[in-house]
Amino acid sequence: MSSAPYLKKSGEAVFQDAFHTRASSLVAPWDGSPVQGVGLIGAPLSKSSISLSGAALAPAAMRRALSYFSAWAVEEGIDLKRARLTDFGDILMHATDIVESQRRIGETVGSVLADNPEVMPIVLGGDHSVSAGAIAAFAKAKGRVAVVQFDAHHDVRNLEDGGPTNGTPFRTLIETGVLRDGCLLQVGIRNYANSPVYTDYVKAHGGTILTMRAVRAGNAATRIAEWVESIRSHVDAVYVSLDMDVLDQAFAPGCPAIGPGGMDSATLLECISTLAAMPAVKGLDIVEIDPTLDIRDMTSRVAAHVILNFLREKTRMAVGGMPMG
Ligand code: CA
Repeated sequence: MSSAPYLKKSGEAVFQDAFHTRASSLVAPWDGSPVQGVGLIGAPLSKSSISLSGAALAPAAMRRALSYFSAWAVEEGIDLKRARLTDFGDILMHATDIVESQRRIGETVGSVLADNPEVMPIVLGGDHSVSAGAIAAFAKAKGRVAVVQFDAHHDVRNLEDGGPTNGTPFRTLIETGVLRDGCLLQVGIRNYANSPVYTDYVKAHGGTILTMRAVRAGNAATRIAEWVESIRSHVDAVYVSLDMDVLDQAFAPGCPAIGPGGMDSATLLECISTLAAMPAVKGLDIVEIDPTLDIRDMTSRVAAHVILNFLREKTRMAVGGMPMG
């Protein structure tokens, strides 16, 4: 028996409240057996960014941010303490070869989906270039896909000027035929962050654009859900690509491309919950967080809520729509 009862061991919780489950404790490393449910795959690549970016550090920051929150969703009355978030770990990047790193992302996401056909991946970027390989692999595994992209930018720069960067993923997906006409919805595109050439390109390829003006008009989640319903019968699965710079700079200081006039975090979280509650939505990525620019992990904390909302709705679906207690 210790003679110093108030001496806490390193790493030991301050309070031993059995009813207080940390969200980070839901994360379990992949043991190699087939996984159902939601799984994390880290894609720590940001050398492909047009501007200087430390987004390669974001997968670790997002996992750490889960430790700031509990597993109790009081608003829905759902306790996630028995839910599991399988962690497949991080994809090993080549030290200097960007295209090889992007190839590894596609290959790894593809093999995870081949080994675990029921898993719903959350790819943790990295910059937005990681989405091209991840979505191509997702489409190879699932069939025809539609994408809901939350972003301030169109991300359809040409590939000739700088190769595959964080400005090109959706151009790549359109030009390689992964995203066919009518299968891309861009949400949160805003002023002074794009060129008319790119807006025209998206429209010419059948993309739908919900600008920030449309988001501010209200009912964004409903409008997104209506779009998904409208293309549902034409695709096999829907993937959500979340560039955190869709948020206003006040909500996402840790993005390399910050700016005013963006989405608020409550609206984003409602949109993610609505999408996650749709069975057709089977994959997600979260990109463009640079932890070296962030303030008190504000941006990674939003990502943690996005992960938990996605997990909550998919878990609720798995247990037949009944609240878990
Ligand atoms: Ca982007």
